[in-house]
Amino acid sequence: MCMDFKALCLGAPILRALTDMGYTQPSPIQKEAIPLALEGRDVLGCAQTGTGKTAAFALPILRRLSEEPVPHPRRIRALVLTPTRELALQIGENFQAYGQYLPLKSLVIFGGVSQKPQVEGLAKGVDILVATPGRLNDLIGQGYIKLDQVEIFVLDEADRMLDMGFIHDVNRVIAKLPKSRQTLFFSATMPESIQALCDRILTNPVRVAVTPVSSPVEVIRQSLYFVDKPNKRRLLIHLLNQWQVSSALVFTFTKHGADRVAKELNKAGIPAKAIHGDKGQNTRQNALRAFKEGEIRVLVATDIAARGIDISELPYVFNYDLPNIPETYVHRIGRTGRAGAGGTAVSFCCFMERDSLAQIEKLIGQKIPVVEEHPYPMEVFEVQKKPLPPQKEGQKQQAKPKKRGYPGKKRS
Ligand code: AMP
Repeated sequence: MCMDFKALCLGAPILRALTDMGYTQPSPIQKEAIPLALEGRDVLGCAQTGTGKTAAFALPILRRLSEEPVPHPRRIRALVLTPTRELALQIGENFQAYGQYLPLKSLVIFGGVSQKPQVEGLAKGVDILVATPGRLNDLIGQGYIKLDQVEIFVLDEADRMLDMGFIHDVNRVIAKLPKSRQTLFFSATMPESIQALCDRILTNPVRVAVTPVSSPVEVIRQSLYFVDKPNKRRLLIHLLNQWQVSSALVFTFTKHGADRVAKELNKAGIPAKAIHGDKGQNTRQNALRAFKEGEIRVLVATDIAARGIDISELPYVFNYDLPNIPETYVHRIGRTGRAGAGGTAVSFCCFMERDSLAQIEKLIGQKIPVVEEHPYPMEVFEVQKKPLPPQKEGQKQQAKPKKRGYPGKKRS
C-alpha cells in the first residue's frame, strides 16, 4: 500500500480493503475530495465517471460512519442518490468492497423490479442506502424509509439526473433530508441548471475538479471529418470496416436518425441496433445486453436514451451528428477512454453543423484535429434548400429537404 492512501487517514479496515482490491494510490479527485469530506465539508465535485469519483465519496462515508458505534436499531445515516439502476448497483458493489472489513451495512434500491426484497433488506437495518429517485420516493411514500437521520447525502451524476427528468423526484428527496447534513455533489458538467441546484442544496461548498470544467479526458483521441450529410452513413461504414471496429457507440440527433443508421449498418453487414425514447425499457435493455455480449457491433443512440443506461469503457464513440449543446459532446466522448485505457472519439460535421462545432471547440478549448484524407470529403458548402442529387445512379435519395436532425430542432 502506497503512503498516499495512508496519508488520507482512512483507517486500517479500509486500507486493507483497498490493498485487497489492488489500489496503489488515490486518483486526483480522491486526493482532493477525501480530506475535505472527512472534515465534514460540503463538496462540489466536477468529475466524470472513470475518475474514481465513487471512492471519492464512498471512502469518507465509510470512514465517518465507522468512527461512531453502530446504532441499534440501525438507521440510514448516508444516502447516495444516483440516476440509473446500473450506477446504483456499481456504487453498491463499491461500498461492499471498500467496507468489507467494517460492520456497516449498505443496501441498493432501484425501480423496475419487485420491491419486496428491498423492503426486507430495509427491515433488517441499513447504514448506507444507495437509491434511484423514483423507487426511493415510492418507498418513502409507503412508510418503509425515513431520511430524518441522514448525516451525509450524495447526489451523484447530477447533470444526468436532470437530463433524465428527475428534478422533481430529487427535490422531493431533498425536502425529506435534515437541514443540517453534509452534502457531496458530483456532476460531469456544470450548466446553469446544475449551478442553481448547487446553490440551493450545498452550504459553503469546496469545489473540486479533476480536469478543467468540461474538458474531455486527455487520453481520448478526438478526430473530425467534414462530410456531407448524405455521405455520413457511407463514411461510417467505411471507417467501421477499415478499423475493424468490434464495438462502437454511435450518436445521432434524432430517433428517426438512429433507426435509419442502424438499418443502413445492418444492410452493410454490420450488426447494429438503435435505442431511443420510443423504444420500451425492455427493448433498450435487450439492445444493451446484445451490445455488451458482442452480438451486435454497433449501438446507435440518441443522447437521452444513452444517458439512461450504463455503457462506458468503449473503444470508439462516433458523433454521427454533432450535438447542439456543447456539454453533450463532453458527455458523449466520456464514454470512451475510461480508466486511462485510451479511446477514440470520431465526429462527423456537415456544413449545417459548423455552428455546433464552433461551440464545442470553444467549450473544450481546443480545435478537434481534422482528418482531411477520406473517401467522402465535403462538397456542399451552402445550406441545402433542395434534396441533394443521388451519389450514384439508382441510389436512394438520402438528403431530405426537411432539416430534420439539425441544430435548433427538438431532440429525442
Ligand atoms: P468511478 O469513476 O468511480 O466509476 O471509478 C472508475 C474505476 O476505477 C472503477 O472500476 C474503480 O474501481 C477504479 N478505481 C477507483 N479508484 C481507484 C484507485 N485509486 N486505484 C485504482 N483503481 C481505482
